[in-house]
Amino acid sequence: MSLLQDRELTTLTVQDMMIPSEKVAHVQLNNPLEHALLVLVKSGYSAVPVLDSAYKLEGTIGKTKILNEILGLERFEMDRLSELQVQDVMVTDIPRLLKGDTLIDGLKALIDYPFVCVVDEAGYFDGILTRRAILKEIRKDIYSGKNKQN
Ligand code: AMP
Repeated sequence: MSLLQDRELTTLTVQDMMIPSEKVAHVQLNNPLEHALLVLVKSGYSAVPVLDSAYKLEGTIGKTKILNEILGLERFEMDRLSELQVQDVMVTDIPRLLKGDTLIDGLKALIDYPFVCVVDEAGYFDGILTRRAILKEIRKDIYSGKNKQN
């Protein structure tokens, strides 16, 4: 039974489909850029959340932003990977969701982003909601029960 069959779409919340913080790769504000690039390349993720030392969400950092930042006129300036910190390059203007927001709110936010961070009322990081998690749930719905013909 998929969540979507079990309950009306409008009653589902972000909490029902989010990936909890303990399963999310992240980097910290004062990590060198090199560390962030290593985490991104090794994990295969295009971007990850940036947290402060108390686990408050500060932004996100992605491979493209890092590579653009170290791109010189004709070559990548690799020294900059150890000179710069995550906080110098991260994106801070990001959407945020609360666990209690509806899944519809989550879907709207995910139109423009492959993942959206979930925080509590005080801004502490709770996890992420991804397009993939929602698409998997929709697929389950399609292949079981009422929609078997699809
Ligand atoms: P997906 O929808 O699973 O392809 O994930 C889309 C994006 O969400 C990835 O490229 C990452 O930027 C981010 N993401 C997904 N899962 C994780 C995770 N466990 N830890 C950190 N970032 C993640």
